[in-house]
Amino acid sequence: MEHRAEARIDASAIASNIALLKTLSGVDLLAVVKADAYGHGLVETGLIAEKSGADWLGVALLEEAIALRTHGIQIPILAWLLPPGSDFRSARSHDIDVAVSSIAAFKEISGLKSKMRIHIELDTGMTRGGFLDEWDELLELDFSQVEVVGVFSHFARADEPTQRQNSDQLARFNTMIADLAAIGINPPLKHLSNSAAILKNHSAAFTMVRAGIAMYGLSPDIKMLGDSKSLGLKPAMQLRAKLHLVKEVSKGLPVGYGATAVTTSQTLLGVVAMGYADGIPRIAQGAGVFIDGQRAAIIGRVSMDQFVVDLGPDSKAASGDWVIVFGDGSHGEYTADDWGAASGSINYEIVTRIGPRVSRIYAPHVY
Ligand SMILES: *Cc1c(COP(=O)(O)O)cnc(C)c1O
Repeated sequence: MEHRAEARIDASAIASNIALLKTLSGVDLLAVVKADAYGHGLVETGLIAEKSGADWLGVALLEEAIALRTHGIQIPILAWLLPPGSDFRSARSHDIDVAVSSIAAFKEISGLKSKMRIHIELDTGMTRGGFLDEWDELLELDFSQVEVVGVFSHFARADEPTQRQNSDQLARFNTMIADLAAIGINPPLKHLSNSAAILKNHSAAFTMVRAGIAMYGLSPDIKMLGDSKSLGLKPAMQLRAKLHLVKEVSKGLPVGYGATAVTTSQTLLGVVAMGYADGIPRIAQGAGVFIDGQRAAIIGRVSMDQFVVDLGPDSKAASGDWVIVFGDGSHGEYTADDWGAASGSINYEIVTRIGPRVSRIYAPHVY
């Protein structure tokens, strides 16, 4: 089928990023594939990661973990967003490890017939998930009905390596691990680092690291840490779409909803067959597309299914041509970083929000 928009996922880029991150950390690597693998496709990316040497897969939701298992993933899987009342029995039967961050969830899991493999989540200073106020109460409970295989926490500011909060969280992590050791719980797995910490804080590697954005070849923060290229990462997703229409227009025409832009000279406009329904931010301004070796900037507001670019008066582009919305930037195309900056957001959100109407194409096939 000919598509009008597709996200091309380069499996060899993911493999190369995993190899780099494993070398940098020197410990086991958990590949984070939550949220449809940051838009790259949950199952396919999970299979690529497994083939490429990831030791674990990590997801937020139980249903994500089950989808990976039912598609044949063999390596261990951790799911970390299971509120009390979740179907822990299904997690057990699919051999999925779960994170526990509340007394309520701990008690439910302890009450199951067969022992669950759990990772205790610690709040070491991000004040989001993990044990904080219930910590002392947890340490009083009976751990004989669970198998504690891991303990973990998450950095709030790993993309700002000089911030003191990083060393504070690291110290708190060690203290809470010692609290567990004092009651005889010594989990073999200790994991704290996300992508930014893997790249910039080697002292936080412990026995495993969790790589999300960097595995997809994107920098956790281009201002603080540098761009993909400077970090040795290869962006895995190239997003492209077809020009639905190319039209010649005169000077002074209002373009799009709200007439927020007006043509300043006679030019060729390209109507790109992709819009905010596909994850292109409605407010994006200053990004655009790449065609015939040139950038063409967005003009006017992005609409639901389409946006308009100014191709310039001399463009050779024709209705039906493919344009690159973002790629690795090596030929001058816009990047996910550029789209993030153009939308007051970050590369994470740009790739993750690419919608289900956009086909994912995998090449080269490594599985
Ligand atoms: C999303 C997530 C990660 C991955 O973070 P990146 O910055 O993409 O590497 C790691 N750990 C947890 C708990 C997460 O929720």
